[in-house]
Amino acid sequence: MSLAHGRPYLAIPGPSVIPDRVLQAMHAPAPNIYEGDLVEMTFGMIPDLRRVARTAHDAAIYIANGHGAWEAALSNVLNPGDKILVPATGRFAFGWADMAEGLGLVPHIVDFGRKATIDPDRLQEILEQDKAHEIKAVLFSHVDTATSVRNDPAALRAALDAAGHPALLMADCIASLACDRFEMDAWGVDIMVAGCQKGLMVPPGLSFVFFNPRAAEAREKVTRVSRYWDWKPRSAPDFFYNFFGGTAPTHHLLGLRTSLDMIAEEGLENIWARHATLARAVWAACDHWASAGPLEMNLADPAIRSHAVTALAIGPGNGQALRRWTADQAGLTLGLGIGMDSETDPGGTGFFRIGHMGHLNGHMVLGALGVIEAGMTALQIPHGKEALSAAAGVIAAGRIDLAQ
Ligand SMILES: *Cc1c(COP(=O)(O)O)cnc(C)c1O
Repeated sequence: MSLAHGRPYLAIPGPSVIPDRVLQAMHAPAPNIYEGDLVEMTFGMIPDLRRVARTAHDAAIYIANGHGAWEAALSNVLNPGDKILVPATGRFAFGWADMAEGLGLVPHIVDFGRKATIDPDRLQEILEQDKAHEIKAVLFSHVDTATSVRNDPAALRAALDAAGHPALLMADCIASLACDRFEMDAWGVDIMVAGCQKGLMVPPGLSFVFFNPRAAEAREKVTRVSRYWDWKPRSAPDFFYNFFGGTAPTHHLLGLRTSLDMIAEEGLENIWARHATLARAVWAACDHWASAGPLEMNLADPAIRSHAVTALAIGPGNGQALRRWTADQAGLTLGLGIGMDSETDPGGTGFFRIGHMGHLNGHMVLGALGVIEAGMTALQIPHGKEALSAAAGVIAAGRIDLAQ
């Protein structure tokens, strides 16, 4: 017998839960793509997207997933042969660097491991050694979704400035936008890429590149930009068709409009605080489970953890078994461990991730935690007691207000 019948819950770090309001907005007849509501609605979304990214500058929308935005961002500002620096704190920096290599760029990866943030001092040192300024860009993930490490973009900007280095600072905020505080302009990020299927709560299919005037200037110096990825016609389209380099993603736009409305209604600061609070409920449960058994959060220091995803180790084989159990027996899909393989666990079967991003509230988090505990009990994975009451205690104490 299974207890999975009922509304399934995808608690992975993207795609995230799609709000019913977004689904309902997308359930619409084909709109006119030449003129009228859809066209006006789309132009009107740019200021809202800017607000979410905390930038006064430009944005281009692509019909693509996050990988598309990675390629778009690189294609606009870098020439084949350009050197780029990629400080890595998990799987995703390697992915972006690989994309760069495919475009003929020359990435230099500096690996900070799976349990630490990028060290700004080390970054500064490397940049200071590059006297000829051959490094054209520094690429990093704000949140690495595999390790759940949250990097500090402002500290990286400070490192570039201290080194007097002109490289562009390029952030991947695919897992953090509208989950963790991010301030593109105040933190001096030149280019930011994001997708729609995580904090923005829309089915996968749209991605975004935000860029400031420094990045726009770099675009002018690139000798050849792929027509499709070129952000110029997209960020200042002469007519609607050019916004998307072809037919508009009509229904995704309807969904995105609604998600942006929901974000505006709740308020970005409140959204960040909600994520921070719910993350603490997850961590409180994990701390108790970890007190007697193999489960362990990947990051010991809460200050460097993402508020949108928690990566956990639970012993070889156990991660896989637990994920199977929660999906089959209780309708809860947990995230796979990715990029966590090792000699003793070549398949990374001892890891899993809890996605707690986007359209999420107290009962969903407590429900997911309850099912994880049920799974550990059923599978006889030892774990400490009182985890659920600890998580409930965090919810009971209410919203945490975050310092700037
Ligand atoms: C999800 C994610 C990606 C990849 O996005 P896709 O839409 O799967 O291409 C890249 N970077 C980060 C940090 C992510 O969380």
